[in-house]
Amino acid sequence: MNRRKLLTRGAALAAVPLAGPYAALGEAAESDVIIIGAGAAGIAAARKVAESGHSYALLEASSRVGGRAYTDNSIFGVPFDVGAHWIHTPNAHPLSAFGRAAGLDIYRAPDTGRLIADGVTASEAEAAEFFAATRRGERAIVAIGEAGRDVAAGRVVPDLGPWDESARFALGPFSCAKALDEVSTVDFTQSEEKEMDDFCRQGFGTLVALLAAPLTVRLDTAAHTVDLSRRRISVATNRGTLGGRVVIVAVPPSVMTAGRLRILPGLPQRCRTALETITLGAYDHIAFDLPGNPAGLKADELIYFKVTGPRAYGLLARIGGGSLHSLEVAGPMARDLAEAGEDAARTFLMEALTHEFGARTAARVGRVHATNWVREPWALGAFSCALPGYAHMRRAFMEVVSERLIFAGEHAHETLWGSVGGAWLSGERAARQALGLLG
Ligand SMILES: Cc1cc2nc3c(=O)[nH]c(=O)nc-3n(C[C@H](O)[C@H](O)[C@H](O)COP(=O)(O)OP(=O)(O)OC[C@H]3O[C@@H](n4cnc5c(N)ncnc54)[C@H](O)[C@@H]3O)c2cc1C
Repeated sequence: MNRRKLLTRGAALAAVPLAGPYAALGEAAESDVIIIGAGAAGIAAARKVAESGHSYALLEASSRVGGRAYTDNSIFGVPFDVGAHWIHTPNAHPLSAFGRAAGLDIYRAPDTGRLIADGVTASEAEAAEFFAATRRGERAIVAIGEAGRDVAAGRVVPDLGPWDESARFALGPFSCAKALDEVSTVDFTQSEEKEMDDFCRQGFGTLVALLAAPLTVRLDTAAHTVDLSRRRISVATNRGTLGGRVVIVAVPPSVMTAGRLRILPGLPQRCRTALETITLGAYDHIAFDLPGNPAGLKADELIYFKVTGPRAYGLLARIGGGSLHSLEVAGPMARDLAEAGEDAARTFLMEALTHEFGARTAARVGRVHATNWVREPWALGAFSCALPGYAHMRRAFMEVVSERLIFAGEHAHETLWGSVGGAWLSGERAARQALGLLG
């Protein structure tokens, strides 16, 4: 329950080399460890298995690595993080250190946020009221969570006055990708406070992809069944069947509940409950080019807005100091926009910019690109947060199933869920468990 306990760990892990002598090992037809999913968790697991000298097969359904941590350079001509962008809690895992060692430009994110209310930068007093209301809401949730009462966070937050809607948005959709009524008080409480963040100028996805560079990844290889019923595990894919001794399943729970990856002869009830209750919320970027900085925003500035009804969003301004910005939509609003499609996202963006900065600023918007993670076939959501009453089910993702199957992924980390760092550490943990089983 100590939300700060992990913050001092991690620096020692940074010594692991970026490139290793193990690139060829993944070619074995039968592998010691089959790893399904080459997101941060699968990459971390494969690196650890490879370092140990065991053979592995790393399978990836899509044609690229990184999963929900992916940088695109073509849409805007500059690095655009389609998924994760903030390197949260950099002291808890080695990702920033890896980035620096690889020569990437890793820098500390500004630790202040600006508040805009109906087109005007809020006064210091108003901003203080908003941040105090948010802290009050957070303290109310944490008090109940620390007492072990796992209920809907939305139920325990008191009326937060004029900033009620804004604070609820910051605590729910913006932090957990879900409305507070769908957030477990205990899961919220266990999550590490994101007191400090780094950015990678070349993109967080670039950093994650670099960590996969020494590995052999079988791209465009979607696993559809894992059969545990015989002595050797067999994994059936669109490109044939592979055999192995241990399997690490590093795909989002949503992919499994949608039936896109099935475990035979079936998972224990406990795992099935975990898959159904540690669910992914919605969070998207409506990214846009706004040249000339007409609104006078600072580089990498995070802007909160006073929320009124459907007008709920945040803005990450001038990413990396350039003209790329991202309107952040989350929770039910992100889900609605995802259903409605890219044109609706563009209209939403223009209305938001007109309301907050005026029509002249909105008119200067260039290219727009909206992500749609709930429709991304191998993600089907943004990141996990336990439903009320089910935070304890995350533990099921850390237990070995049938002595041969191990889960990894952001959903399989108790304090850093919803983050790349959590996914990375879960992958390393899964690899340690796999190596233990292999003896
Ligand atoms: C919009 C958005 C913003 C975010 N912002 C941040 C942030 O700022 N900071 C942060 O730390 N985190 C952020 N996150 C969360 C972070 O991206 C995830 O927690 C993390 O990337 C998850 O890693 P993972 O390895 O668990 O899963 P994934 O990255 O989803 O990797 C799973 C991989 O498995 C593959 N796969 C799925 N099914 C199969 C199959 N059947 N066979 C083979 N392969 C399969 C997928 O294609 C994917 O590559 C954000 C997420 C989103 C969507």
